[in-house]
Amino acid sequence: SIPLGYFAGVGALSKHGVLVKGGNYIEVLKNLNTIIFDKTGTLTEGVFEVVEIKTYNGISENELLEIAAYAEEHSNHPIAESIKKKYGKTFDKSLIEHYEEISGHGIKAKIKGKEILVGNKKLMEKFNVKIPEIKFNGTIVFVSINGIFAGYIGISDKIKPGVKEVIKKLKKLGVKKTVMLTGDNKKVAEEVAKEIGIDEYFAELLPGDKIKFFEKYKNGVSTAFVGDGINDAPVLTRADVGIAMGGLGSDAAIEAADVVIMDDDLSKLIDSIKISRKTLKITW
Ligand code: ADP
Ligand code: MG
Repeated sequence: SIPLGYFAGVGALSKHGVLVKGGNYIEVLKNLNTIIFDKTGTLTEGVFEVVEIKTYNGISENELLEIAAYAEEHSNHPIAESIKKKYGKTFDKSLIEHYEEISGHGIKAKIKGKEILVGNKKLMEKFNVKIPEIKFNGTIVFVSINGIFAGYIGISDKIKPGVKEVIKKLKKLGVKKTVMLTGDNKKVAEEVAKEIGIDEYFAELLPGDKIKFFEKYKNGVSTAFVGDGINDAPVLTRADVGIAMGGLGSDAAIEAADVVIMDDDLSKLIDSIKISRKTLKITW
């Protein structure tokens, strides 16, 4: 029998801007043990801003920014968007001879005859580019030209307002464990996790790693995954309840999710759990 109250729950949640793709997810929401969050775009705004450009080996800051912007021209990643925004000029696309987005790493491109890499430490290691130790409080995007480190772009993101309170309230509602997964570097991950009071975090993950960690945590207990990106879609599918951000979230994530928070406001998680618990168990 289908508890009739589930339909009421789905209806009530839709009025709160939470789309639930089936009454059975109301039951899962009632008794969540673990909630696993993606970081970028889920716990943080996912809107990056270039706040620092440093060059090495003689190139100017404007040149470095231009090269990076050209390399990122085809990418929709929030990092790419911030670099293109900072550059602010139109592109002569004929200068981009080759372009490749390497998942969880960054960009490999050929621009004006030069081999360009724009991405994280892992990308630099993959192509044996030597990089110095850099102290920057945020996401560091390394740039290399013809295999030589040319400088970095420092990018910052902001934690969504109210997230700390949401994590606190989830605990009060009986959620046992909160976890954060991210492809971003360990330092940024640690700071975000500390600031908002997440129990555990795992950083520098490739999209495939996110699935592995998820499988480990699922381990028989009722588990939600909350995410926004294309990379999150496989994990959203595997979760007992996959919850996506409907505003800035990618189509793939929204499609893969069981529950969609239409305005990306994480406090709707609290509403969702409360409403699912209030839902009367009238069966037919
Ligand atoms: P997340 O959404 O958790 O940041 P991603 O897999 O999208 O996970 O990205 C992981 C990391 O890979 C980023 O933090 C960044 O360091 C690097 N990266 C991915 N795409 C790009 C890109 N287009 N330009 C530069 N760096 C990138
Ligand atoms: Mg993300």
